[in-house]
Amino acid sequence: MNRVSFNTDLCKGCGLCVGACPRHIVALNNAVLNAKGYHPAHVTDMAQCIACAMCATMCPDVVITVEKGSEK
Ligand code: SF4
Ligand code: SF4
Repeated sequence: MNRVSFNTDLCKGCGLCVGACPRHIVALNNAVLNAKGYHPAHVTDMAQCIACAMCATMCPDVVITVEKGSEK
């Protein structure tokens, strides 16, 4: 499976990645506050991710890393 990881404590909750995801699976996690006091972004349904890296490209703070899994 593809993997999207977030350096959560660097996230400022701007939501740019949320709007960028063509699969609509990036959201701000209202249940969590990070070290900066923001609700950080996370992926809600990893199985739907196509590893396009739009989210990572949009993030101004380089919070997101996308790794493409093997095709099986
Ligand atoms: S890599 Fe693409 S599909 Fe996956 S979470 Fe990021 S924007 Fe969405
Ligand atoms: S674009 Fe970056 S800083 Fe903004 S909410 Fe997404 S991960 Fe956080």
